[in-house]
Amino acid sequence: MVGVLALQGDFYKHKSILDKLEVESIYVKNFKDLRRTNALIIPGGESSVLSMLIDRYSLRDRLIKYSQCFSIFGTCAGMIMMSRTKKLGHNVEPLNIMDFTISRNSWGPQINSFEKEVDFKNFKISKFNAIFIRAPKVLKFNNNIKVDYIGRKEAVILDDGKHMACSFHPELGQDIRLHKYFLNKFYNE
Ligand code: GLN
Repeated sequence: MVGVLALQGDFYKHKSILDKLEVESIYVKNFKDLRRTNALIIPGGESSVLSMLIDRYSLRDRLIKYSQCFSIFGTCAGMIMMSRTKKLGHNVEPLNIMDFTISRNSWGPQINSFEKEVDFKNFKISKFNAIFIRAPKVLKFNNNIKVDYIGRKEAVILDDGKHMACSFHPELGQDIRLHKYFLNKFYNE
């Protein structure tokens, strides 16, 4: 069963892609839900709120423990939560699950949100319409992580062999290929 963390953000968009792929999934709002799953998606949204709600629902340690057994895919705010960035402003405390750091809102404010058709060569996915909304930028990442870039070598998608994170929103378009990639590589039903 795939879980979609449903505390805040566009979790329903991930769910509709999973439905399209005919993969069984549930919304995860607490530990009881989490225990029913063996892969998890953390959606885009607002990482400060996500971080606060993860603590409010006592999920922080449980998510970290979960990540040692099962794979997690974080998109945008979800990527921020996957990073090992130390406490960020506005009470964002990432989960420290993948070995990379980010800086928040680094493509500019809402008005600078953009879409771009990208070839993810290392992921063997071409012409993917990537949607960036107040996205984070990756500052540093461990050399063992598989990465793809846009523009002048801005890393926007990472796969560390166990987990994935991307700074854009694959859940907002119609393209199912990145979800398919995650499930094929990391999910055993
Ligand atoms: N700027 C948001 C944050 O810092 C992320 C935006 C998003 O998920 N689209 O949490």
